[in-house]
Amino acid sequence: MKKFVYNFKEGNKDMKSLLGGKGANLAEMTNIGLNVPPGFTVTTEACIQYDEEGKTLWPQLLDEIFEKLAQLEDETGKTFGHGENPLLVSVRSGSVFSMPGMMDTILNLGLNDETVISLIKKSGNERFAYDSYRRFIQMFSDVAMGVSKSNFEHELEKMKHEKGCENDTDLDASDLKLLVERYKEIYKRELKTDFPQDTKEQLKLSLKAVFDSWNNPRAVIYRNLNEISHKLGTAVNIQSMVFGNMGDRSGTGVAFTRNPATGENKVFGEFLMNAQGEDVVAGIRTPLSIDELESIMPAVYNQFMKTTQILENHYRDMQDIEFTIEDEILYLLQTRTGKRTAKAAVNIAVDLVEEGKITKLESVGRIDPHMLEQLLHPSFDEKEVKNHELLAKGLPASPGAASGQIYFTADSAVEAKEKGISVILVRQETSPEDIAGMINSEGILTARGGMTSHAAVVARGMGKCCVAGCQDIRIDEHAKTMKVKDMVLTEGDVISLDGSTGGVYLGSIPKASTSLIENFEVFMQYVNDFKTMKVRANADNARDARKAIELGAEGIGLCRTEHMFFDEERILNVRKMIVAETLEEREAALKLLLPYQKQDFIEIYEVMKELPVTIRLLDPPLHEFLPNTDEDIKEVADSIGKTFDHLKDVVERLHEFNPMLGHRGCRLAVTYPEIYKMQVRAIIAAAIDMKKENIDVNPEIMIPLICAKSELVYIKTFLIEEINSVFEETGETVEYTIGTMIEVPRAAITADEIAEEAEFFSFGTNDLTQMGFGFSRDDSGKFLDDYTKKGILDYSPFETLDIAGIGKMVKMACTLGRETNPGIKLGICGEHGGDPKSIAFCQSVGLDYVSCSPFRVPIARLAAAQAAIDDGTVRDK
Ligand code: PEP
Ligand code: MG
Repeated sequence: MKKFVYNFKEGNKDMKSLLGGKGANLAEMTNIGLNVPPGFTVTTEACIQYDEEGKTLWPQLLDEIFEKLAQLEDETGKTFGHGENPLLVSVRSGSVFSMPGMMDTILNLGLNDETVISLIKKSGNERFAYDSYRRFIQMFSDVAMGVSKSNFEHELEKMKHEKGCENDTDLDASDLKLLVERYKEIYKRELKTDFPQDTKEQLKLSLKAVFDSWNNPRAVIYRNLNEISHKLGTAVNIQSMVFGNMGDRSGTGVAFTRNPATGENKVFGEFLMNAQGEDVVAGIRTPLSIDELESIMPAVYNQFMKTTQILENHYRDMQDIEFTIEDEILYLLQTRTGKRTAKAAVNIAVDLVEEGKITKLESVGRIDPHMLEQLLHPSFDEKEVKNHELLAKGLPASPGAASGQIYFTADSAVEAKEKGISVILVRQETSPEDIAGMINSEGILTARGGMTSHAAVVARGMGKCCVAGCQDIRIDEHAKTMKVKDMVLTEGDVISLDGSTGGVYLGSIPKASTSLIENFEVFMQYVNDFKTMKVRANADNARDARKAIELGAEGIGLCRTEHMFFDEERILNVRKMIVAETLEEREAALKLLLPYQKQDFIEIYEVMKELPVTIRLLDPPLHEFLPNTDEDIKEVADSIGKTFDHLKDVVERLHEFNPMLGHRGCRLAVTYPEIYKMQVRAIIAAAIDMKKENIDVNPEIMIPLICAKSELVYIKTFLIEEINSVFEETGETVEYTIGTMIEVPRAAITADEIAEEAEFFSFGTNDLTQMGFGFSRDDSGKFLDDYTKKGILDYSPFETLDIAGIGKMVKMACTLGRETNPGIKLGICGEHGGDPKSIAFCQSVGLDYVSCSPFRVPIARLAAAQAAIDDGTVRDK
């Protein structure tokens, strides 16, 4: 018979898929001898079966649970639901992948009107017993029975107001006893029944609620965002309670073994005295730094510091630990691999290697390539910051810089974002219901909560800028106002947040480019040790080329020459060339463009020196270059001495219904060879100029949109003729290669023939995806969302390569190309060249390089290294 319930002593850290992360780690900590309150875990398989059983708890499961509960009674010497020493338990969710705050938890379960009296007698602390009872009623009502917690919070605020006190800790036993009565009335009012006194019933309802929370909307959104499968289910941990709210010798907290924002090797944490766990996470009171524990309870502090070392050494990674102190005894309630910023991730990975705790290969595997994007995020331009009024300072909860209009609810933030507005979400504190609002904001500002509050943890995970616990601001969510100093800001006003300093500024501050941390270079050096594919950049000018080199590019894989012509002065000549009706007219326009082109190439070569540069000959979708407005047409007409009507007529004749399938790429060169002739002349002449400076440039000349070998032969022939005439005219030669993009399905299918004439292939997977799917690159955004929402496609094929279809064409073209030209160089320059999943595919088909936009180069380098490690191409060094 399948076993659905495991005592903590029966599990270990490798049983995450069955016991969930929390359950597996509670078991591991128990078994390495740490002080974990005893308990047991109901498996993820039980959650899946619960769904299959029509959301009911079946008898075998209940028998197993109550058997384990009886064992827990024996182990703790307490009894559940009655007796002089009542057993109280926590019921917590725990899925395979951590989903902080997304699912539900119930504490202090097992309290009723009888056990609360026993608890008073046993603890001698009436205040603590009623505090626990009121917490339980609120959590149970909210989580298990769907009574909004605002009902209870409102009652608590009222009580504090009646008593004239600030904090819940200022309420005494009789206040809390009265609050318990009021809470029970709320329960009865809302649910038309009394608060359940049968503790087994309490447990069953709570278990169902935690299972159900696997599918609550915020958990579903979180899983979608983090690409976590919906089929995994959550485990449920039932654990005997220890009490951080027992008085001044008790407390509870959260700590990281290293700083999760910077990676500094120093325990970083927060705790609250006389409180239970949810108080810290929800940011109800502002917590104390862990350092302060040293003076309050030195022995506990020392023991805790030792424990953090034990855990980090055991797991060989930075840990995020939850603990409770009950009457000066330390208990561990959770450990997990800590979430961290990209900066911290890189610093920790490098430090752990240098401390000899992990290998370089392990460190490379530990960082999600997407995370590096955070490191490349801009910060504010420091000079500009000085010109903006500092409104307030909060905690620097998640780095980055953001400016935008303020909105006070998640829904209004989403609505504003849909209108294209940059949003700063401003909340008292965030809760998991705010997740959609957070996703749609540039930055998040909260008035309450510490560095481990929900807002801080979730924003860090998203790589979003966040300032938390900003006590200088007063937020009225109903009136939609934020008071700060003597100012009242309303919805739509613009502020800026600096997530690295906690600064909140008035107005929008321009950003500076990012400076990378020192360890970044060290880490990227590890990456280079393992990657086997080269990473090049798509760069069209010297500025992009410099950025690419700075970020570790090993060449240019795509220089889109049409992008060189967008500037005002040049576009006129390009237009003249396009609308020219005679060869003479076209040649005259091209003659004007030649010096610009040559200079462009010289500038790029000067940056790239001897690194490979692939220059793609002109591929202008005509609609991007034709004069559109009457004004433009008039300007071009005047400058080429034609009448407006005549030119308008020419433009109309050139109009295309499907410009992306129109007279572009090499098709244009078949009609007008002189365009490509001018370009190769510029490419080669520029390389010859470099040679004179002793820089050996070997340009790779790439022809776009080839669909047949004969087409390539036709174009190559006149290109070589033109190149030879440059050699003759200058008396100099340079090495060069001519290759083609593979971006038309027919080219992929006839790659063996094409490879006989091409020295390299570069897969243009943007067009290959467009033509393979028959989805327009420019318009498919309108319907692709429906495809992913309805599960027809798992992702947009324009972002991640469709391996089953377009990937099959790429793979086939590689095989066919190598058959006739074994030494052919293979690369990719479509957007997929910067996408980690697509890069793993490129590794699997043996491409020589990937090419992507400069800012994605580090991501591509890391993804390439991980792909080489995963497919066994490289091993630990
Ligand atoms: C491609 O089609 O993948 C490509 C790189 O070319 P472009 O995006 O310029 O069409
Ligand atoms: Mg293309």
